[in-house]
Amino acid sequence: MLYRVIDADELPSLAKAFMDRYRVVAPVQKNGESVYEIIESPDDIDLFGPLSMTSLKKYFLPPRETLFTFDAETNSVTDFTQDVQPLVLFGAHPCDINAINRLDTALMEGPYADPYYTALRKATLIVGVSCMPSKDCFCHVVGADEARVGYDLFLQDIGGKFLVSIASVEAANILESACDPRIATDEERIAFREATRRRQEAFNKEIPDIQEIAMLMDAFHKDAFWDELGGRCLSCTACSSVCPTCFCFDIRDELDPSGKTGRRERVWDACTSPQFAMVAGGHNFRPDGRNRVRHRMYHKLNGFLAKHDHMLCVGCGRCVSACKAQISPIEVFKFFEAKEATDGR
Ligand code: SF4
Ligand code: SF4
Repeated sequence: MLYRVIDADELPSLAKAFMDRYRVVAPVQKNGESVYEIIESPDDIDLFGPLSMTSLKKYFLPPRETLFTFDAETNSVTDFTQDVQPLVLFGAHPCDINAINRLDTALMEGPYADPYYTALRKATLIVGVSCMPSKDCFCHVVGADEARVGYDLFLQDIGGKFLVSIASVEAANILESACDPRIATDEERIAFREATRRRQEAFNKEIPDIQEIAMLMDAFHKDAFWDELGGRCLSCTACSSVCPTCFCFDIRDELDPSGKTGRRERVWDACTSPQFAMVAGGHNFRPDGRNRVRHRMYHKLNGFLAKHDHMLCVGCGRCVSACKAQISPIEVFKFFEAKEATDGR
């Protein structure tokens, strides 16, 4: 990994250099909230606002996506014609970079890579940025507080300057053309360490840091806790919509009014939806909130970990804010914290 330092006032030039070559998505302020959007000017960027409630997954896995069109009269389908335009995600937080890494694992790196996701993902550069945790952030608990891979540049704020980690030749060339990157001094390396320590100390200490969460979940799989948690669920699916790592989808054939032509679409789906696990004949493998919420938490904190060595939850805290029933991984951590206290462990 190559490290360089740039001054904070060089940032607009860097963003502009990316904009000259790509569409650039960055965090902007809109109606009092931080959102990721295509920007028109480097001045639009609000790099250090709160984490956007909508994640970056929509740029690789759109909420609604046409896979192909068909014509019943000619019994034909169109070829795969995805509109892929090179993109830069500028200002991705470490949790969101790790979330994209998890999506890559699920959708691009297995034996059956998703061609739609892969095409959009491969046309994207990622510029990460350091952040300070909000009260709902727990990326440090699930091992997603640092982005070690998955970006092209990473900008660590060291006070009026950025220590830039460079991970791709393309991004290095753009950095070189737009800024005056220099080798870090000893003082700047120390400033980097201090910034990292300040961030580690800023996490909400009321969020329990439970070790061996996956093993504990297996041990308490049948506990009444899941009835209580699932009983509260409204099946609104807000948690999955905001989650940067939820990737379940449904496939639907939409017919045009003629009844002869149409398109196959995929749309986001959610395991907290009552019909998600319903099959032909009407049987539902997860008929109640208990089964659905427990399944979601197991996939996030246990099942994906067993298969891929990483939890699927990256601790971004979005579902903590989005869920009106106060259901989130933090509730699971608190349950095990209380268990440990009552069991005297
Ligand atoms: S489960 Fe919640 S905290 Fe974890 S990645 Fe998804 S939205 Fe973020
Ligand atoms: S867990 Fe919360 S956000 Fe998710 S579906 Fe249930 S009520 Fe909605």
